Amino acid sequence: MASRRDFLKQGAGLCALGALGAQIAAAASSTTEMSPPPDLFDAQLLDLDFWVKPRTLSVVRPASGERAKVLYWKDGEVIDSAYQELCHLLRDVNGRETAPIDPKLLEMLWGTQAFIARYGLTQPLEILSGYRTEASNKRLIEEGVPAARKSLHMLGKAADIRVAALNEEVLGGLIRSFRQGGVGYYYRSGPKGGWIHADTGLQRTWKG
Ligand SMILES: [Zn+2]
Repeated sequence: MASRRDFLKQGAGLCALGALGAQIAAAASSTTEMSPPPDLFDAQLLDLDFWVKPRTLSVVRPASGERAKVLYWKDGEVIDSAYQELCHLLRDVNGRETAPIDPKLLEMLWGTQAFIARYGLTQPLEILSGYRTEASNKRLIEEGVPAARKSLHMLGKAADIRVAALNEEVLGGLIRSFRQGGVGYYYRSGPKGGWIHADTGLQRTWKG
């Protein structure tokens, strides 16, 4: 429970951040390039209302075509059946295996979604990868897909995500501002662009 409290405390600081909000608002109304968000660590303004409301996570899995909107947290508690549903949605689609997902990861995803929803970006988070079996992870490495040998995906502590309207700098900067773990920026050209790896391991960032 300590981690959740920490998340709330630190996350609350970012909510009132006008600068990042302005960039997300810009993204919502245009597709022009944005500069990276500012460092958010010094923000101390509170917006408690944001953090006590029921939490719904809306996700889509391009790999399987699944799409769901799950109310998973209410009155300070995780709803178990909803948690199980989210674990299933974040399962290893290729390896066909489900594993427990770190609740802190769900909070990161929810915080991301709830924050950008304030600027009219209400589409589901695209989950490109959630939990991965060892075999799936190994296969990705063999196929040349960027994946760490000891990937946190194998522990249910990482997700690769994308939000169509946000470039990698802004989405990664937002997740980084939670200060809850690692953020990997995967820039790719092409119509769909890249993705962001978010995990609940050590705080670090990298470009892949
Ligand atoms: Zn990843």
